[in-house]
Amino acid sequence: MARRRMIYEGKAKILYEGPEPGTIVQYFKDDATAFNAEKKDVIEGKGVLNNRLSEHFMTGLNSVGVPTHFIKRLNMREQLVKACEIIPLEVVVRNIAAGSMSKRLGIAEGTPLPRPIVEFYYKDDSLGDPLVSEDQIVAFQWANPQDLDEMVTMALRVNDFMSGLMFGVGIKLVDFKIEIGRLFEGDFQRLVLADEISPDSCRLWDMETGQKLDKDIFRHDLGNLADAYTEVATRLGVMPKKSSGTTGPTLVK
Ligand code: UDP
Repeated sequence: MARRRMIYEGKAKILYEGPEPGTIVQYFKDDATAFNAEKKDVIEGKGVLNNRLSEHFMTGLNSVGVPTHFIKRLNMREQLVKACEIIPLEVVVRNIAAGSMSKRLGIAEGTPLPRPIVEFYYKDDSLGDPLVSEDQIVAFQWANPQDLDEMVTMALRVNDFMSGLMFGVGIKLVDFKIEIGRLFEGDFQRLVLADEISPDSCRLWDMETGQKLDKDIFRHDLGNLADAYTEVATRLGVMPKKSSGTTGPTLVK
């Protein structure tokens, strides 16, 4: 079999040239990184879980009319997506104060926000992905005002959908990050949701206990990351329920 061409290796995924022009294969690795890759580890099974979870979210979003790059899952670790040009911005939506917002503004982690807040970060590891204003984005031509409007609308639609989905399984969607790409179709281009949506890029808290079910477990050494992601996947019905143990047949009296 011909060796396929690697396009890019990131922190959590590898991109390969897809089978048709305009397609890409996304391979989900088990590597976990945090704090701009200062902390690194391999979490067995994380890639498989994120591949399945991202498929679940992208498929759902597609079905409610949010355009995405997702085509289909190929196997345990790979999915086929449409090739697009990633806009160099991380779009973050927050419902509850946490992480960098709590630190920057001194708002206690867990404080509900008066309305969802959309923020943009410029994707540049050497700068530590700085927060940028809409004026900076337009001035430096990372996106034009029309793109920005569309990105905010898309981010809020993703927030509504994901919040509802998580609420249904007893999980609060605290915040998340998405990436958006330009898809070129002939003379036209449209914006689509790209990259992945998984517990690597969301904050998810159990509604009853407040237990963290996301990458903060890895960032702050709070327990087993793969177990938490499995819990999310199981609640969403993406992974089969854990068996109740191998106790064998019980004697009926
Ligand atoms: N996030 C991400 N990748 C990044 C930065 C942030 O996926 O490079 C996600 C993060 O998991 C959280 C949200 O975006 O769900 C907001 O992150 P925050 O700005 O609070 O930064 P952090 O505290 O993660 O450094």
